[in-house]
Amino acid sequence: MMTTDTQTIPQPHPGVERIEAYVPGKSQATGGKKTFKLSSNETPLGPSPAAKKAFASVAERLEDYPEGSAEVLRKAIATRYGLDPTRIVCGNGSDDLLHLLTIAYVAPGDEAIFTEHGFLVYRIDILMAGGEPIAVPEKNFTADVDAILAAVTPRTKVVFIANPNNPTGTYLPFEEVKRLHAGLPPQVLLVLDGAYAEYVRRNDYSAGMELVSESDNVVITRTFSKIHGLAALRIGWVYAPAHVIDKMNRVRGPFNVNSAAIVAGAAAVADTAHVEKSADHNDKWLPWLTENIRATGLEVLPSVANFILIRFPHTPGKTAKDAEAFLSANGIVVRGVGAYGIPDGLRMTVGTEEANRLTVELLGQFMAQA
Ligand SMILES: *Cc1c(COP(=O)(O)O)cnc(C)c1O
Repeated sequence: MMTTDTQTIPQPHPGVERIEAYVPGKSQATGGKKTFKLSSNETPLGPSPAAKKAFASVAERLEDYPEGSAEVLRKAIATRYGLDPTRIVCGNGSDDLLHLLTIAYVAPGDEAIFTEHGFLVYRIDILMAGGEPIAVPEKNFTADVDAILAAVTPRTKVVFIANPNNPTGTYLPFEEVKRLHAGLPPQVLLVLDGAYAEYVRRNDYSAGMELVSESDNVVITRTFSKIHGLAALRIGWVYAPAHVIDKMNRVRGPFNVNSAAIVAGAAAVADTAHVEKSADHNDKWLPWLTENIRATGLEVLPSVANFILIRFPHTPGKTAKDAEAFLSANGIVVRGVGAYGIPDGLRMTVGTEEANRLTVELLGQFMAQA
């Protein structure tokens, strides 16, 4: 018998009812000869061939549990970045780690801060933990350190910053991150989400590893889903102070990283030439897309990541929704960002040369049509 009587069915805690389920970027276009998926910031260059080979090798040992601490992967990451492998925990995507950090540090009644157009997963995790999500206004679609510091209360437990941020593509210079850290009470955990760190080519940017090493309340999360091209395998890692690592190891699933992820991730992080190639591709096409889409009359936010946020007019026929439908009918799938508080925006991943040229051509047609 189906019933909606809330007295007679099990009830989740109140935070769960406040969560809006995360809607991933679409995979399918409505038309076009060929589909180009530019909706989830996946790399057009794919993973390292060495990672594919390592992945395939696991097929012979599927009956075995993974090694629970992902030691091979932690050591490969530590070698690449010059870190202590005991200060790294790997996860089933960085989503897993963001979730674990939140449930470990945020209890019902606590507050956790993120920014107005910040990554949606933070809000979901805070509500899941029973905490109160505090969304702080941004300035020019960029995190505002003063506004964040002003929002801190005695109940604040965590501050989440994606740097660069998704979906805006904007970033905080390291001086600003340090100013934010200096202004936070020492008992507040600062989570720096560096999902796009490898793409940034700015002298005033740092993912912030040194800040983690020098303090007791900063952690950095990183992912293999973006530049490493391994989104399907779900691999993330966190670099954190020893006391945070201890808490993460208490709350994580005992086998939260699978065997294929461990070996493929280790091979991917060691293939620095492939990463360089992907970053070079981005460095070539990010400014090209920005300039050429601006030339059609559209506003493009300045991005340092592997995607751009395009803003559309509010005129009927020329809106973000109209553009999304037009692009989709022609094989280009992009991401609407209404859920991020930007209903007039579309986020587009930097794609292959073919995808980038087609998108610019289509946006030119879209803006020119009566
Ligand atoms: C894509 C992305 C991630 C990566 O998530 P995974 O779970 O590692 O795939 C994390 N943070 C931000 C801001 C992202 O855009």
